[in-house]
Amino acid sequence: MVNEKTPGKQRTHPIPPYDLYLIDADGTLLDFEAGEAAALDTTFRQFGLPVDTMDSYRRINAGLWRRLAEGTISRERLFSSRFGLFARAHGIALDSLQVNRFFLEQLSHQAQHMPGAEAMLQALSSRAKVAVVTNGVSFAQKERFRRAGFLPYIRHLVVSEDVGAEKPAALIFERALALCGHADKTTVLMVGDELATDIAGANAFGIASCLYDPAGKHPQHQAAYRISSLQELV
Ligand SMILES: [Mg+2]
Repeated sequence: MVNEKTPGKQRTHPIPPYDLYLIDADGTLLDFEAGEAAALDTTFRQFGLPVDTMDSYRRINAGLWRRLAEGTISRERLFSSRFGLFARAHGIALDSLQVNRFFLEQLSHQAQHMPGAEAMLQALSSRAKVAVVTNGVSFAQKERFRRAGFLPYIRHLVVSEDVGAEKPAALIFERALALCGHADKTTVLMVGDELATDIAGANAFGIASCLYDPAGKHPQHQAAYRISSLQELV
């Protein structure tokens, strides 16, 4: 574990214990890439879409999620348009909403763990409060956490769709603290794999942040801590 508060001065430094851990879902506790790949595979086969266009869908979808986090499109717009924009780019006719509904249903069955996620949740939840803060679709995230077996470790599963605000907005962090009955920001650590949502959001809200960076993609970051394994939180 490396504390990199001072850029350029990296030193080994254990993460002190916190009283409340807010943890991101996709790419942190659940393997979204694996789940999305399985759900897309089923969806593309169901609607007869060419499998070699799947990466093009991923790029369009990722661009829309970035715009949602920036606040330049709505969540409704993202879900109603993502398969339609993809289809138009490839000259395919489809019902964008119908395909999106089918895809989300498939995604809700996907509960692949990130390495060490369950052991970490088990250890942290035995000595601190743990809540999940995720930008996503409420029914899909709840079903995935149920299937993953993670619900016993989590006080609250805070989904942006239910809150009406996406990370990095302060409102979703505020809601998580309120649900956990936790007022002291100095004893809260946000853990996540995305700089623009998890880390920027936590920093702006005034709580400590920890970047989970298993692939070492982000040597430059504004998080208080960076870890490559979830075990380092324990
Ligand atoms: Mg994530």
